[in-house]
Amino acid sequence: MSKIKGSPGYRAGWCIHFQSMGKFPTCEAGVRYDTFTGEDRYLSRMPCFIKPGEDPSSKAPCPHLRPPTAEEIAAHKEWAAGRLNQLGVVMTGIQPWREKHRGQSCTETVECPACKGSLRLSISSYNGHVHGHCSTEDCVSWME
Ligand SMILES: [Zn+2]
Repeated sequence: MSKIKGSPGYRAGWCIHFQSMGKFPTCEAGVRYDTFTGEDRYLSRMPCFIKPGEDPSSKAPCPHLRPPTAEEIAAHKEWAAGRLNQLGVVMTGIQPWREKHRGQSCTETVECPACKGSLRLSISSYNGHVHGHCSTEDCVSWME
């Protein structure tokens, strides 16, 4: 979760090794989440989560803790802003498609306005919501 697919950096506030506790028994550094027991099981005590200005001694110790550097956080922010922009380009680009198919249920593959790849769109006649998924890795995918 700390490492977002395609991002060159890391999100602030998480150890770079953290990954979903629901999906994985360990973090990417191989530390088992169930080694944190008792009070250390609370998220506020888990070393994976780093709040700005927090005292590290209030956390359970972890030998593999590695907070992201300022450079890594900046790289992620820049990447995330680009992603947002990409989605904005697509949303503007598909507006005519949305208008054309309003009131229908329709699924169609169109040229992606962001990357010129294949963008699969579907619209619901029920609520007009559009789902989109671009076949290009790291391009847009959303559900309304
Ligand atoms: Zn695309």
